[in-house]
Amino acid sequence: MLAASAAGYTAHPQQQPLPGYSPASAAAQRRLELDAMARLTPASAAAHSRVLTREAHVAGTPAQARTRDYVIQRMREWGLEAETRAYDVWMPHPTSIRVWRVSPDTRELSLAEGPLAGDSSSSLPEILPINGYGGSGDATAEVVYVNYGLIEDYATLDSLGVSVRGKVVIARYGRSFRGIKAREAERHGAVALLMYSDPQDDGYVRGDVYPAGPMRPPTGIQRGSVFNGTGDPTTPGGPSVRGARRVAPDSTGAPRIPVVPLSYANAAELLRGLQGAAIPQAWQGGLPFRYHVGPGPVIARVAVANDTATTPYKPIWNTLGVVRGTEFPEELVVIGAHRDAWGPGAVDNVSGTTSVLEAARAIGELVRGGARPKRTIVFATWDAEEWGLIGSTEYVEEESLRLLRGAVAYLNQDGVVSGPNFGGGGSPSLRSTLRSVAQSVSDPSGRGSVYEVWRRSTRVADSTEPPMGDPGGGSDFAGFYNHLGIPHADWGFGGPGGIYHSTYDSRYWMETFGDPAYRYHVVAAQISAAMALRFANADILPYDYVEFARTMRRYLPPIDSALGARRWTTSSSSLRAAIDRMERSAITLSASRDSALQGGLPSSTRRAVNAALLRVERALTRPEGLRTRPWVRGLIYAADENNGYATMAFPSVNEAIRAGDSGLVQHEIDDLARRFDAATAALDDARRAVSR
Ligand SMILES: [Zn+2]
Repeated sequence: MLAASAAGYTAHPQQQPLPGYSPASAAAQRRLELDAMARLTPASAAAHSRVLTREAHVAGTPAQARTRDYVIQRMREWGLEAETRAYDVWMPHPTSIRVWRVSPDTRELSLAEGPLAGDSSSSLPEILPINGYGGSGDATAEVVYVNYGLIEDYATLDSLGVSVRGKVVIARYGRSFRGIKAREAERHGAVALLMYSDPQDDGYVRGDVYPAGPMRPPTGIQRGSVFNGTGDPTTPGGPSVRGARRVAPDSTGAPRIPVVPLSYANAAELLRGLQGAAIPQAWQGGLPFRYHVGPGPVIARVAVANDTATTPYKPIWNTLGVVRGTEFPEELVVIGAHRDAWGPGAVDNVSGTTSVLEAARAIGELVRGGARPKRTIVFATWDAEEWGLIGSTEYVEEESLRLLRGAVAYLNQDGVVSGPNFGGGGSPSLRSTLRSVAQSVSDPSGRGSVYEVWRRSTRVADSTEPPMGDPGGGSDFAGFYNHLGIPHADWGFGGPGGIYHSTYDSRYWMETFGDPAYRYHVVAAQISAAMALRFANADILPYDYVEFARTMRRYLPPIDSALGARRWTTSSSSLRAAIDRMERSAITLSASRDSALQGGLPSSTRRAVNAALLRVERALTRPEGLRTRPWVRGLIYAADENNGYATMAFPSVNEAIRAGDSGLVQHEIDDLARRFDAATAALDDARRAVSR
């Protein structure tokens, strides 16, 4: 192994035991993780990043075939079994996108982001300002400003006596997934939707704009999908392989009205001349004039043409790099990053792709040196995430049986480097492992481990851990976690920026603001390598169901107060009791596990314990899914269907509360309680197996 100290990595955490490892295997694992981490360098991370950010690589384009080839070639060089998985996906691309102000005067808006000094990639041919899965058409109408375009904003417009029926609406980005804005605009009768990034949200109100600073410049445009589903819209629930049964594209729920993203320079051309009712103060944005809602007198024309009639189906390509496990080859640790982008994509998602590539390189080198992991590790890059998590979803739907049986964890890397501030999240069962790994990695700031710097920045009390994010929506874990109940974790380093989904998410932005020396890229990849190895080599899978149950208990008081506020007699007591039982079983299991691991455990025992543990979170899903969304089977977290990004805990229960149906609420509480008891039964099976 390489000398860990020589590479500057502190080796202080060996004092603590590694959950799920016997004392002997823990010592070997510590050495192995340090060895893997020491192989990662800023130079190799920078090399991947510079190649992959050379050109915009939108899904369904030749540029995206080139990123596929780059990844496959590297994986093969490093000795992994590398494979491309192709799918045919309904993904119309716009061929022409134009917007005019036609009154008070006629002027076509320039939808180009344009070159900026220093950023050489900004002078390359630009891709269109695409809102993926927006409709096509040509609409001319008075303009109405709808604030963020949320459900409550349309209610406010109603109270102002303003209708958007037959109008072109303009909404600011933010506060919800953009697909929700498109859905609401169409529901309320708008004929086109324009969306822009207000300078108050990520432009000059927040900081200096690119290239002087990291924030959004006047011409910067946020592209992005407006499809609210997951995966290929024409193959819900199944893989988009050749010959797959498909639903008609016009029944997929994709928007029918044209939807176009604008820069704030363009938005000002439409917003400045609006008149009409006085706005609520909260609707005022950062442009230098008073906002009004209209309608009119400004009139806009929006014209979008796409290739629906000619080539709506396009190939997409996932790449898989596989390291086969020695002892439990059918058990899988999957680590993935999406490989497509709306521009050069230095942050989103070349940084995540680089993390997965570098982890694959390090572990590939260990394997060639004879240290093959016990479980199989799959290093994936997914295509078409930006259009609706498509590549990962099609893979999960194609491999669902194998994944349900054997997937131990899904580790997601999306937008993992845009600054120095660490954050992580995912299923509460994996959080203690992520904290443990973060303790073993040095922070690039030189102020201790990633964990120590993270703790200080969150200023939590000594007795509590830094908060982690609950899984909502918006990235490739959805297929694994929300659809199948496979525990997942993610992490990354953030910072201020206004280049999201823009041409300016580029090498120059990264090397000037995001991570000039690629040191955070290295650390993200070190965590990737260590996390993958930690789950791949554990004697007993290190899930923390004590933390899981304690986290679940925190979601009960909001439910109780919602029930109280409605004066319902409905009670959450069955669920509370089931969570209490889960916690007690998890505590007992963890004690039995730790004592059993003091000796050695035969492989057959470990296999039986792990098989039971794999059933715990699967039990917290149901085959028929949520009532609102059958594809979403997980009952612990889901993206709020009225927001798209925000997390809803216990979604079956909370959606029933929102629906105002007290009988359904009690039914859902009891259903969830029974599923917690099934999870607890799996924990008890694991304890019996470990104590045998
Ligand atoms: Zn992304």
